[in-house]
Amino acid sequence: MKLKCLKKSDLKLYKDIKEEEKRQAEGMELIASENYASQSVLEAMGTVLTNKYSEGYPGKRYYAGNEIIDKVENLAIDRAKKLFGAQHANVQLFSGAPANMCAYFSLLKEGDKILSMNLAHGGHLSHGSPVNFSGKWFRFHFYGVDKKTQMLDYEAIEKLAKKIRPKMILTGYTAYPRIIDFKRFRKIADRVGAYLMVDMAHIAGLIAAKVHPNPIPYADIITSTTHKTLRGPRGAIILCKKKYAKQVDKTVFPMIQAGPHDHITAAKAVCFGEALKPSFRQYARQVVKNAKILADELIKKYGFDLVSGGTDTHLILIDLKNKKINAKKFVQALDMAGISTNKNMVPYDTGTPFDPSGLRIGTPAITTRGMKEQEMKQIASWINQVADNIDNKKELIKIKKAVKTLCQKFPVPGV
Ligand SMILES: *Cc1c(COP(=O)(O)O)cnc(C)c1O
Repeated sequence: MKLKCLKKSDLKLYKDIKEEEKRQAEGMELIASENYASQSVLEAMGTVLTNKYSEGYPGKRYYAGNEIIDKVENLAIDRAKKLFGAQHANVQLFSGAPANMCAYFSLLKEGDKILSMNLAHGGHLSHGSPVNFSGKWFRFHFYGVDKKTQMLDYEAIEKLAKKIRPKMILTGYTAYPRIIDFKRFRKIADRVGAYLMVDMAHIAGLIAAKVHPNPIPYADIITSTTHKTLRGPRGAIILCKKKYAKQVDKTVFPMIQAGPHDHITAAKAVCFGEALKPSFRQYARQVVKNAKILADELIKKYGFDLVSGGTDTHLILIDLKNKKINAKKFVQALDMAGISTNKNMVPYDTGTPFDPSGLRIGTPAITTRGMKEQEMKQIASWINQVADNIDNKKELIKIKKAVKTLCQKFPVPGV
């Protein structure tokens, strides 16, 4: 980006941003929750829409001068509804965690029981962690994946639901590489009279592109970030059935949020517009195809142990125990080689969140850059080389140079 004024007025910050642009352009981004927003999304965020106050909703604002903001927000709402086939959309949510807060408070009361996924098996911090608002305000009970298959065991979840009798069942995860059967979850929820909530933050782009089943026919309420596979600005949305529309809107404003971020709403509209195009379907298909190739290479060629034995999505979770590699050290070594990843708990981990046994990687960002099969094979080989040279600085720097050379052939939008 040009940033002409910023360069003149605040050289120090300008340099920091340029440095980050360089880091993003030269490095291999394998963090599964990250992506590159398009130039159009970036442009919409950097507009005078940031100047406006517009508490309320289109047609019912508490401030004057919102005729144009109303058009922008309605466009974002209409596109979100069309993209997912939803009856109602709220596009004002600041981010994924606050969106979950709004979802819980729309349908539940403090202290109600929620059945969600064990955080060590792929659940998110905002799904009941004791250090998070969710775990402090609601009574969470947890299901996990099957010990042997490392996949969801719907029979076991149903049994647990019958025992716990939760007010809400929550599905949608942050580190689960497999397809989720929303229809089956609906059945379980109906059997115990619970609401079904889906947090599709990680897989929203795959759902929009129809490469993962859509939860809309089954869920009472759905939350999603807009900045992960969906490739929009940082932010979130809530989708719900019409009968919950009023409750949801009232919880977002005035209960939890105040003035919406209209420049971000505009960028969300751009993102949904992009996701409605056939090119986005192609993109999402390639994301999954790339993840499958990468997973295959890691397993068959290099002997890595993948949680659940592979992937159906954008995400791969590597269990490093068989390789006797420390995840923390591995992440650092990969970083030195120009490859960004994150350490992660694996199901039934004997480690801690700060010192876990897994490595999580994903293909959304590198696929946006245009990388395909050949590059996936190269990346798998580098991951293996880093594993073999975890303490060999010289070798890691050599890999970093090769990573940079490859990355420079695949431009990052906005740089
Ligand atoms: C990323 C994520 C969130 C949180 O989103 P933030 O925008 O970081 O608050 C919530 N739920 C799931 C499943 C996620 O993966």
